[in-house]
Amino acid sequence: MSAPARAEVRIDLGAIRHNVRHLVLLGDDAAVMVVVKADGYGHGAVDVARTALDAGARWLGVCTLEEAAQLRAAGITAPVLSWLHVPDEDFTGAVATGVNLGVASRRDLAAVAGGARAAGRPARIHLKIDTGLSRNGCPPHAWGDLLDAVAAHTESGEVEPVAVWTHFAHADAPAHPTIDSQTDRFDEAHAAATTRLGRPLMAHLANSAATLTRPDLHRDLVRPGIAVYGLDPVGGGDHLRPAMSLRSRVALVKTVAAGEGVSYGHIWSTPTDRDLALVPVGYADGVPRVLGATGRFEVAVGGRCRPVVGRVCMDQVVVDLGPAGTDHGVVEGDEVLLFGDGRDGGPTATEWADLIGTIHYEIVTGVGGRPRLHRTVVA
Ligand SMILES: *Cc1c(COP(=O)(O)O)cnc(C)c1O
Repeated sequence: MSAPARAEVRIDLGAIRHNVRHLVLLGDDAAVMVVVKADGYGHGAVDVARTALDAGARWLGVCTLEEAAQLRAAGITAPVLSWLHVPDEDFTGAVATGVNLGVASRRDLAAVAGGARAAGRPARIHLKIDTGLSRNGCPPHAWGDLLDAVAAHTESGEVEPVAVWTHFAHADAPAHPTIDSQTDRFDEAHAAATTRLGRPLMAHLANSAATLTRPDLHRDLVRPGIAVYGLDPVGGGDHLRPAMSLRSRVALVKTVAAGEGVSYGHIWSTPTDRDLALVPVGYADGVPRVLGATGRFEVAVGGRCRPVVGRVCMDQVVVDLGPAGTDHGVVEGDEVLLFGDGRDGGPTATEWADLIGTIHYEIVTGVGGRPRLHRTVVA
């Protein structure tokens, strides 16, 4: 048996299965596209994809062609949509393996059509309308022009339009007026596309928050991401189970005398003689450094929440076990739960996010790492 890990990100695929089944039921007639971008929000795209498909998801959503290729290389043949591409991207492989492609501009379309010619088959495209997020997507004033180009490329057999789609700015606030105004713009764009292209097109606009709170926006397909991982974007997602936990082990237990400063900058000092535990994880592992400065960062050791004291370092944090000599029962090698599913009242990724004013999305992707970055070494 290999030695226990210094630090471990544990993924509970049972939780993923449970969450996907819940979303499939909730989606009702809409197909479910499970979003596995950023390596499945740090949970492992291939494992999550397989589990999700097994649990009833029909589609997979990714951001980049590399992410789509990773799924295909793993033997996953389910429909995949990839939606964020850079100029001069080569779409040949994606088209050859049947990956559906988001298209938001004439330039996108021309590149995708080029890939289709090289692959010798039509590219399945999802036309993205920008209804008010002002991020990716075709602005309404350019929509008619884009549709003309799509019609021409459809005629020539290079593309096969399958869907019109968009993304909300305020889906986490289910009553926000922009949801209805974006939906109105979407419906208009969808109607224009079906008329101009003379065929039915799928409609999809709901992320997790809209899937959970706005059944009227489910349409043909929903695109949940964060809810698949068991994190609730909007409140009321009590049925979800967080799939990721972050664990480590106590590396050292020792007594430090009263009045000593602890960790860099001495932002905390021992009020009495103190027993402290050293835990070998830090900001290089995705534990945000600012958590230490909140004074309210806790981890579970021996099944009990205990305060982390002082700054979070690159590779370590220090936990206060209480006055020296108290029967805390903690010994070197004990498991430490940094965050988990919260079922035993233990810490959660959501609590971390709330403490430092961010969202749980950033916590799990930070801990899970971002294998998508290319590293260039300049000598
Ligand atoms: C990330 C993403 C989603 C999923 O969003 P969640 O809030 O995680 O459910 C859906 N659609 C698009 C276009 C996305 O970029």
